[in-house]
Amino acid sequence: MDCIFCKIIQGQIPCQKLYEDEHVISFLDIYPAGPGHSLVLPKTHFDNLLEAESEVLGQIMQACQTVAKTLQAVLKADGFNIFLNNGQAAGQIIHHLHYHILPRFANDDLHIKLPSHKYQPGEMEQIQKDVSSDMVSPDKEQILSDLSKISPNQKLNCTQAFTLAQQYKISKKELGELLDQQQIKLRNCQFGCF
Ligand code: 5GP
Ligand code: ZN
Repeated sequence: MDCIFCKIIQGQIPCQKLYEDEHVISFLDIYPAGPGHSLVLPKTHFDNLLEAESEVLGQIMQACQTVAKTLQAVLKADGFNIFLNNGQAAGQIIHHLHYHILPRFANDDLHIKLPSHKYQPGEMEQIQKDVSSDMVSPDKEQILSDLSKISPNQKLNCTQAFTLAQQYKISKKELGELLDQQQIKLRNCQFGCF
């Protein structure tokens, strides 16, 4: 894969490395917005945040905290910004998931200022309604992804369904809803378990 950051990780392109563990690497940005501007990224290639496994996200965020804390202390910064450009429209140039850490100084004369617009009447409520009703927690997403591997025509019996509910630590009712969503049928049960 032709990815600059993968090449840096593999040592084919040099970098000023700040931190490295089994899963994550951090190095100085070559075109910094200020002294100490750093990047933190997973060693596994994911194009962006939405592609990454949840386990990796935890590892990156942990490393962000370590790197930011050390940068702030060593550079005697007064704070830092952490940001991520996701997708071309958001300014992502290197399509290997990475967070930016930018140390900030009280008088650094750097102004990251977002415009402040006003919603049309009802627009804010509509967005809230649409988005919250589509929201799927990471746990549920994992369950759905596992269930999607079961073919829709495959029928489960009660014991298998109970085992799944136990495994995912969800109620029978919740499992029933998820199975419905995936169009996975349960074998008719004479005891009405589900
Ligand atoms: P993006 O816009 O994708 O969020 O940011 C990519 C960042 O990577 C930019 O700030 C850019 O300066 C930095 N960058 C691009 N190529 C290299 C490189 O070869 N080495 C290092 N250290 N940073 C790079
Ligand atoms: Zn990569």
